[in-house]
Amino acid sequence: MIDHRRLGRELDLFVSDPLAGAGLPIWLPAGAAARHAVEEYVRELERRCGHQHVYSPPLGKRELFELSGHLGYFADDMFPPMRLSADDEFVLRPALCPHHALVFRARGRSYRELPLRVAELGGMYRSERSGVLGGLSRVRAISLNDAHTFCAPEQVGAEVVEILGLIRAAHAALGVRPAGFRLSLRGPGGRYVGDDAQWAHAEDLLRGALAGVEYVEAPGEAAFYGPKIDIQIVDAAGRESTISTIQLDFDKPERFDLSYTDSDGSRRRPVMVHRSLVGSMERLFAYLIEVHEGAFPAWYAPVQLVLLPVDDGQVDAARELARRAVDAGLRAEVDVAGSLGARVRDAARRRVPYLGVLGAREVADGHLALRLRGGDALAPMPAGAALALIGGQVAARSADLLPPD
Ligand SMILES: [Zn+2]
Repeated sequence: MIDHRRLGRELDLFVSDPLAGAGLPIWLPAGAAARHAVEEYVRELERRCGHQHVYSPPLGKRELFELSGHLGYFADDMFPPMRLSADDEFVLRPALCPHHALVFRARGRSYRELPLRVAELGGMYRSERSGVLGGLSRVRAISLNDAHTFCAPEQVGAEVVEILGLIRAAHAALGVRPAGFRLSLRGPGGRYVGDDAQWAHAEDLLRGALAGVEYVEAPGEAAFYGPKIDIQIVDAAGRESTISTIQLDFDKPERFDLSYTDSDGSRRRPVMVHRSLVGSMERLFAYLIEVHEGAFPAWYAPVQLVLLPVDDGQVDAARELARRAVDAGLRAEVDVAGSLGARVRDAARRRVPYLGVLGAREVADGHLALRLRGGDALAPMPAGAALALIGGQVAARSADLLPPD
């Protein structure tokens, strides 16, 4: 059975050390390289679509989370406050929204700035019980791909449709295969803020944005502040979880007294749309490791090219070529330890997408013989052309190792 925890160990992607604490995994260099590539991609996608990135701290004063409603509605999922002095208590944040509301509030806002999209890949914390923790799928320290759009009420529908398009683009590039769309609604027994009219209006807006999409309705799965569209995945063990989400919130703009100046000079209240394209880096990678069985697309493979000199005579040429590959932006290594067969098997075990074999003949000709993950071998080609081929597939963030014919 495929299990991201076993693959994570075999591929040196991350480690969970009891001394660090359960649910607090450490990303090793290979896992960090893959995550870095994915983070860069997500930021670029967001930048192209008008998002502005910010940084905010993963903890804040108790009063911030009282104002946001988190301490009132969500305290069971939070770490207890840390007291520095009688009137100075801090909490590890359970969400980024309060800080992003402060970004909006940092100065006066005009209708011309809307929709204002504030994005951050930021840290947050959940006090999960140790029994439910495992690998990357359930953690206590979360790195969330998050954004909040502040928009005029009449802009909400179009914004949700646009975000759905961004989510589809991100899923296609990463190889995420959603199991289904869910409209998460209020349910009996839950604690929710806001009045019935607000909830009904928000639900109507989300239903409208989902026109033409197959989805199920899930009473009881809404956030405490509003309904949401959740995009679900199923892991190798058959467990369902949410990878992407779009949530409407009429409540936080009230609590933080957010407003903008409209074209007629009047003050108006924006609507806050919370959204995550790919969820947390932890849960995303738990899923990607399993769905690709560790063989990531070349663009976020930890090592993209391993160069294998056939014998000692080609080691210098291999190191020089690796340097050229790294200069060209690729993640490349030279492996000289052991027989050629053993090195080929080791690269296959590590799911390296491209192997470059350098014998005396290739070095003399300035050529490289590429082998693709999976075993296909290409005829030797000029080394520069081989690097360009790999660079092209990486730049295109292609799922394939070769360009289309
Ligand atoms: Zn939020």
